[in-house]
Amino acid sequence: MSSNTHGALQKAKKSFQTLFEQAADGILIGNTEGKIIDANTSICEMTGYEKKELIGNNIMILFTKEELKKKPLEYEQLNAGKSVLRERKILKKDGKEIYVEMNTKKVADGRLQAYIRDITDRVKAQKKINEKNCELIKTRKNLETSNAQLLQLNKQLEEQKAELIRAKEKAEESDKLKSNFLANMSHEIRTPMNGIIGFAKLLENPGLSGERHQDFVRIIVQSGKRMLNIINDLIDISRIESGYTNLQKMNTDINKILLEHYEFFKYEAEAKNIKLNIHLEEPHKELILYTDPAKLTQILNNLLKNAIKFTNEGQIDFGYKKKNKRFLFFVKDTGIGIEHQMQNKIFERFRQVNMDSARPYEGTGLGLAISKAFIQMMGGSIYVDSEPGKGSVFSFTLPVENPVAEKNQE
Ligand code: ADP
Repeated sequence: MSSNTHGALQKAKKSFQTLFEQAADGILIGNTEGKIIDANTSICEMTGYEKKELIGNNIMILFTKEELKKKPLEYEQLNAGKSVLRERKILKKDGKEIYVEMNTKKVADGRLQAYIRDITDRVKAQKKINEKNCELIKTRKNLETSNAQLLQLNKQLEEQKAELIRAKEKAEESDKLKSNFLANMSHEIRTPMNGIIGFAKLLENPGLSGERHQDFVRIIVQSGKRMLNIINDLIDISRIESGYTNLQKMNTDINKILLEHYEFFKYEAEAKNIKLNIHLEEPHKELILYTDPAKLTQILNNLLKNAIKFTNEGQIDFGYKKKNKRFLFFVKDTGIGIEHQMQNKIFERFRQVNMDSARPYEGTGLGLAISKAFIQMMGGSIYVDSEPGKGSVFSFTLPVENPVAEKNQE
């Protein structure tokens, strides 16, 4: 070898040595069993070992047992000519661990060459990012939970608001009903009172004919009865509301009660040119039901009085049908009828369809509320089916209670 060639080789070797030693990444050269043949300055700085401590040792000294168990060194792949890029933990001489990225390959002369880059800062930053991410996910979850709770709360508040509005409307309605009732009541009482006082005064006239006298007395008696009805209704509704109403059940002949009503209301209906028809099952027989006759009478009175009051032409049919274990009583008229939205409301106390000050019909709005309460006490129900301008059917059921022997009666 010429001295020139030798000099060039020496130069190339030195240049390679400089590149090897001063490379930014750590470099290890080893044989296929992992024995370290050479190491550069970077790997020594990274691990804290001196070059001589590394050379001759197996690369395994740079890893903990757990690390090797978790990520074994992959000689098989390397021998097959593949390069292996792994993130690993290296155990430094001082016992501390650092994170590295290790890129290993078998080079042409059969040696293994590993490029090792310290990525501890990157891994730590990544860890922090992951932690922050976890926190963010947690915060998001908490926010989602809070949001759901807020939505639920909002829903509850909306419901409570709607409930309050309903209660307010009900209270206003009830207030309106009460003041209407009071205005109505003073009118209802004053009218018969004026009748009684006015016609009683007229009776004082000594020149009054016998016929006129009779007419005035009739008006006074009618007004007195009207007063009595109002007072009775008031007593009934306050008894119902305070829970003081009792049933006085006894063996009651239904046919007889209905026929009495027919006889009583026939003339009142005729006076308005209305035909009153009664419908009984086996009218000539006694039909005994164990019930409260006074309350049944009062219910039928209310329904028939209303039917006549709210009918101007046509007819009124009333009676009963026996259906399974119930009696179905009905009062059907061809009167003014009731709008659909009022059909449930008319059973509330004080409630009248027409509540204007210029009401065309007299009444206190208590009759149906009292009837409904009595019917429910007796184990039945009341319904209305009506079409404005065509008429109404009020029906109510009473359970069939078999008559009892006289001695057991209340
Ligand atoms: P009142 O007859 O004293 O007003 P009710 O409680 O008996 O009180 O009836 C309440 C309201 O129901 C009446 O004011 C009327 O508006 C309506 N009503 C009851 N019966 C009839 C009917 N047969 N036809 C039409 N409307 C009726």
